Amino acid sequence: DEETRPLRRPEWLKVQLKTNEEFKDLKQIMRQGKLHTVCEEAKCPNIYECWFHRTATFMILGSICTRACRFCAVTSGKPTELDLEEPKRLAEAVVQMGLRHVVITSVARDDLDDGGASIFAASIREVRKARPECTVEVLIPDFMGNWDALQVVMDERPDILNHNIETVRRLSDRVRSRAKYDRTLELLQRALEMQPSVPTKSSIMVGVGETWEEILATLDDLRSVGVSIVTIGQYLQPTRKHLRVEKYYTPEEFADLKQEGLRRGFKHVESGPLVRSSYHAHEQASGVMGK
Ligand code: SF4
Ligand code: SF4
Repeated sequence: DEETRPLRRPEWLKVQLKTNEEFKDLKQIMRQGKLHTVCEEAKCPNIYECWFHRTATFMILGSICTRACRFCAVTSGKPTELDLEEPKRLAEAVVQMGLRHVVITSVARDDLDDGGASIFAASIREVRKARPECTVEVLIPDFMGNWDALQVVMDERPDILNHNIETVRRLSDRVRSRAKYDRTLELLQRALEMQPSVPTKSSIMVGVGETWEEILATLDDLRSVGVSIVTIGQYLQPTRKHLRVEKYYTPEEFADLKQEGLRRGFKHVESGPLVRSSYHAHEQASGVMGK
């Protein structure tokens, strides 16, 4: 019926995936290392551009998540055991792909005491050892508020510490599973206190029913805990079972949000319909760290 029929995707969200030989070689490398990239598995529309610029996002700690956020296509359930060799294989893939910037992220492993923090730390170490010229960004879960686990990650001084707020305060409990809006802010604040020279980053997806004012309030909240990089992108419904899109923002509205972000003092703002947390991450890294 009219009420539940999904909104039509506007023109600016229809992108063509280009491909070439080099791209196929990169895909081959991924398969050999038994690694998961978010780029491939989320069918990210930016994959050609990102991989061309030698940026990729890897998912560590398995592909089954202990949480079930209503916007996310990752399989939820009981994760398999911990793979202690994963950080080494990840570093090998980074070398083989010749990456200049790697984003390391994971499912939420609420079944582990440290939420997988030690594997994040080992991954940063192995990449640094194998390819020192590659900058490392970690996009971490909230470790259920285990700040000792956060410390383990921060001790490795990643080039960027990324943790997503995802949505505005009012919708947080509805959209995310188990994550808490204020815990996200606290994590970002504590991370900066632990390593003041490591820039912090967060992402908002819009289109799940928030108001314009609520987006601005979320930007204010992120600035209040010292976040310096923010990305804002359009939520797209992965399957019919997921949260529906309430609004498609226009490219002009995204441009306005970028200005709102810059006005608030963020050093780097990516805002656009296809922007994902790791989109143009190599530029964010160089922009903020002066590399
Ligand atoms: Fe991969 Fe992120 Fe780029 Fe998408 S935006 S292709 S997930 S690095
Ligand atoms: Fe997806 Fe992360 Fe939520 Fe797990 S915690 S369901 S991976 S968004």
